[in-house]
Amino acid sequence: MLVDSHIHSHYSSDCRLSPNKIAQTLRNLGLCGVLTDHYDFDHTQGSFFTFDVFEFLKDPIVKGIDNLSRGIEMGLVPQLRSIHEKHVALGEFDFFLGSLHYAYRDDELFEFTRSHGMDIVPYYKEYWLSMIDAVEDNGFIHALAHVDYPSRYIREFEGEIPLDDVEHLIRKTFKLLAQKNVSLEINTRRFAQEKAKAQWRWFLKVFKECGGESVTFGSDAHTLETIGNHFRTAQEMAAEARLTPVYYKNAKRCEMTE
Ligand SMILES: [Zn+2]
Ligand SMILES: [Zn+2]
Repeated sequence: MLVDSHIHSHYSSDCRLSPNKIAQTLRNLGLCGVLTDHYDFDHTQGSFFTFDVFEFLKDPIVKGIDNLSRGIEMGLVPQLRSIHEKHVALGEFDFFLGSLHYAYRDDELFEFTRSHGMDIVPYYKEYWLSMIDAVEDNGFIHALAHVDYPSRYIREFEGEIPLDDVEHLIRKTFKLLAQKNVSLEINTRRFAQEKAKAQWRWFLKVFKECGGESVTFGSDAHTLETIGNHFRTAQEMAAEARLTPVYYKNAKRCEMTE
């Protein structure tokens, strides 16, 4: 069975879906899923964008549904690292998904949802340098989420990613992932765009060349309609790049088969 390893529920402050509805939708689609709610910093609120982990773990619905597993989308900012480590030590989660929505540069918060007036190449250099720091500092994650994140939001860049200009930094990040035995998430959120699919094919080819072995599939759904979107394409891409599709259960990697 295919597993959507990146789904948000009402435990994330930007999502209203109940775990029950998510489970029903997954059943209708013939999929399993992992709830990966945000534990991060929210620049719009000026506060941490978190949820009550203990309430989540005790939630009888989250606990009792067999096609749902329990994860966290961990914002890889230095201020949260010790809290993330405590969550890992609880031994109750199935999956830790690392993601970089913000970084700190000279003690200033830098969101990757807007350009800050920068040109595309220096901007993406900044992004990938932050990614290297994030992966170096947080070896406990199982997979790294949406490495195309800024391209969703920054309109003036029109979905472009200057891959050639930042290839050396991407390779450095992917080598670190391979060394730490971390999977790369194939995030299918932008797959309606041909340009995005071409970028992902390139990411997967380079990840393989850097020693990467496994990929998770994540729709990053915040709505029921987007759960499991484009997973056929993700399967084809993983096969083409000779990467193994996986998911995590009880913090252990499992091969994903149909
Ligand atoms: Zn995210
Ligand atoms: Zn997400």
